[in-house]
Amino acid sequence: MRQTFFADILLPLPLKGTFTYRVPLALNDTIAEGTRVVVQFGQKRILTGIVIRIHENPPRDYQTKMILDLIDRQPIALPLQLQFWEWVSDYYICTWGEVMNVAVPAGLKLSSESRIQLHPALAADDLNPDNFSEKELLLLDALRQNETLGYEEAVKISGNKQIYSLLKSLLQKECILIFEELKEKYKPKTIKKVRLHANWRGKDEASLIELLDRLAKHTKQEALILRYLSLIPWQAEPEQQLNGIPKSTLLTANLSESAYKTLLKNEVLEEFEIIVSRLEELPTGDFQLPQLTDAQSNALQKIISLWDKKQAVLLHGVTGSGKTELYIHLIDQMLQSGNQVLLLLPEIALTTQIVARLRRVFGNRLGVYHSRFSDNERVEVWHGIMDGRFDVIVGVRSSIFLPFSHLGLIIIDEEHDSSYKQYDPAPRYHARDAAMMLAHMHGAKVLLGTATPSLESFYHAAEKRYGYVRLTQRFNDAQLPAIQFINTKHESKAKRMIGEFAPVTLEAIRTTLEAKKQVILFQNRRGYAPHLSCQTCNWVPHCQNCAVSLTFHMHSNELRCHYCGYRENPPHTCRQCGSHEIKTVGYGTEKIEDTVKSLFPDAVVQRMDLDTTRGKYGLQNIIEDFSAHKIDILVGTQMVTKGLDFDHVALVVVFDIDRALYYPDFRAHERVFQILTQVAGRAGRKAAQGTVIIQTGNPHHPILEHVAAHHFEDFYKDELPQRQHYHYPPFTRLIELTVKGESAEEVEKAAQNLAVALRNGLGGNRVLGPQAPPIERIRNQYLRNVLVKIERQGTSLKAMKAYIGTTMDNLIKNKTFKELKVVVDVDPV
Ligand code: ADP
Ligand code: ZN
Ligand code: ZN
Repeated sequence: MRQTFFADILLPLPLKGTFTYRVPLALNDTIAEGTRVVVQFGQKRILTGIVIRIHENPPRDYQTKMILDLIDRQPIALPLQLQFWEWVSDYYICTWGEVMNVAVPAGLKLSSESRIQLHPALAADDLNPDNFSEKELLLLDALRQNETLGYEEAVKISGNKQIYSLLKSLLQKECILIFEELKEKYKPKTIKKVRLHANWRGKDEASLIELLDRLAKHTKQEALILRYLSLIPWQAEPEQQLNGIPKSTLLTANLSESAYKTLLKNEVLEEFEIIVSRLEELPTGDFQLPQLTDAQSNALQKIISLWDKKQAVLLHGVTGSGKTELYIHLIDQMLQSGNQVLLLLPEIALTTQIVARLRRVFGNRLGVYHSRFSDNERVEVWHGIMDGRFDVIVGVRSSIFLPFSHLGLIIIDEEHDSSYKQYDPAPRYHARDAAMMLAHMHGAKVLLGTATPSLESFYHAAEKRYGYVRLTQRFNDAQLPAIQFINTKHESKAKRMIGEFAPVTLEAIRTTLEAKKQVILFQNRRGYAPHLSCQTCNWVPHCQNCAVSLTFHMHSNELRCHYCGYRENPPHTCRQCGSHEIKTVGYGTEKIEDTVKSLFPDAVVQRMDLDTTRGKYGLQNIIEDFSAHKIDILVGTQMVTKGLDFDHVALVVVFDIDRALYYPDFRAHERVFQILTQVAGRAGRKAAQGTVIIQTGNPHHPILEHVAAHHFEDFYKDELPQRQHYHYPPFTRLIELTVKGESAEEVEKAAQNLAVALRNGLGGNRVLGPQAPPIERIRNQYLRNVLVKIERQGTSLKAMKAYIGTTMDNLIKNKTFKELKVVVDVDPV
């Protein structure tokens, strides 16, 4: 007798745990842990899941359903990988299935499309026409003739746009069933190739003469064959003959498509298809690794010896000190010892330049993984790691979920960057922190690289939990830029400002352009103006869905909400008092672009922000043009501040930093220090010293002074005691809960209840709030936050998280609050 097996299946659902199904006997030998299966979930849903465990124990409390189908012959996920996903779900208080949902590229999920069929139990004579509408009868008739129908077909047949109510009624009368048809989403890319037909392939010289004789009268066909033979000679190796050439290679220039078709028909040539990679093929370079400087090779040695004792090393190197060069050397060493390497980058913006540098060294062993890639490309990277084609992966945060089997090293570049944190949806994970656990599971080493360490990482280094290596010199002894403050309060008072620019700033731009150098203008706000305002009554247009003013975009001539995407035409008159005097208040990148274009009409100005970089190559093109000095002045948001390596930037100007300095968040100062140091780091990276001008109303603010002195340690010494005093990270762990809902009252009440319950369970002084976040309504949802602070020592984080999880669940179970949502964010940033 054959054994009966059961399988625990992980499904992409916000429900706890795995689900047990029975394995059909026919699949006994082929099903394996890590393969995908198709199962029915509930009455109507068909889902793809991953097999976690195969065993012989039927669940006691429910009748199992059968697995419907097995998709893979080989596992697509590895045990260690699945364990890591589970850890992420525990740590970030979400379900394993939610992690699966972000971890697996859409191309590996099955898509389902609902189909309608007759209820199998329905007999023809059951139908009493009096019980059905005309449209229902039409549809039932059609279903009798066709096996199944899609929604769109059903709409056509019944002539009824509100198909759902029609279907609902038929469902209630038990006349139809709705099920989901599955489609595999990943489609391999194929190309058409051509070769000599077997009739002619590998034949002797006499046959060639015969063939050419035959074609002599057909000059177009002859031309084609001659071109083919110029690429693959008659006597070529059999393998080469079999491989043929791409059809597109053969049919170039003025060669005739119809002659080609005739040759196929007459069995002289034959066409065939092969599957090719979507990923760019590149020759593996015989590229020499650059010679490290003394400072760099000392740092390299130190990192390696620190790894003997510590899992992680913080590489704190000033901008342009050659951190990326060190990464390349370390990756090379790891690969030589047969390990996989993951290099994490915070943003797609940074991948272009670094990938180009790595490609030269690692060629086709390098896989790149990020969201501007299509699903199909992502699936190929996934498979490429599984089958060993890629052993170096460069990717953004979600690449920690890929199927690694033997990671030796994870490098986290720009480790301080907040883009490593996923905000929405769950799992709200921090890729840097999660990567530490991933490395731990693989026994891999970690290198955290940055010019501006996060307070957390620097603290761990100071406490000797991480090793610490410093690079204080820029490569080639390039100087760090000179930082200069312009007091905009003085300048405004003296009426010297020209638009957003102080005269000193304009002069600096002018001399920089004259010296044929490039300029970066940094303003962390896109659009033309953050709001419009009526001159007479101060009315400001607001978003109808969110508690924010609408940003004026001049290029598209519209008002836009940066939180929900709502758009409207700019008003000509005030909606409150009818006045025509409506002015713009404040300025964004568009306005700076506008002003600088009119002041420097000969300069090539380009804006780089979310609005100019949509599309797969938008960003890359701007970066390449700026690198090639086709652009003189680059105006942009924080996109321009990060990690980019340009040779000819001599001047960086920072606008409007005061807003960030006084932003109500305990990390505001840290952010300002990082963002200013980073943007300054774009200046003077190669030859002469660069200049940074910071326009501010607070030139003597201590944070700005530390930036100007390039003194991270002083900043750290000022900031750390504040964190300790107010019980913030790195001294505590934060967990933020947000209640959301359409009714302000209910949200407030639920948040109060939540806070009370948390205070009871966790201790009163660990819970803050509820309070309204700076923007208290987004997409018509009112928001209230409750903040939990947990000391790092002497507490059981696990127990507290379990309590928080249960408290959240209970709140939503309460009937009065069932319209609300509670979102939890562990280690919010
Ligand atoms: P970081 O990552 O610390 O900002 P990079 O690795 O980008 O620094 O180095 C800055 C610039 O100096 C790059 O253009 C890089 O190619 C160059 N560079 C750094 N170290 C070397 C080296 N040892 N040999 C040649 N060029 C180097
Ligand atoms: Zn008005
Ligand atoms: Zn909005």
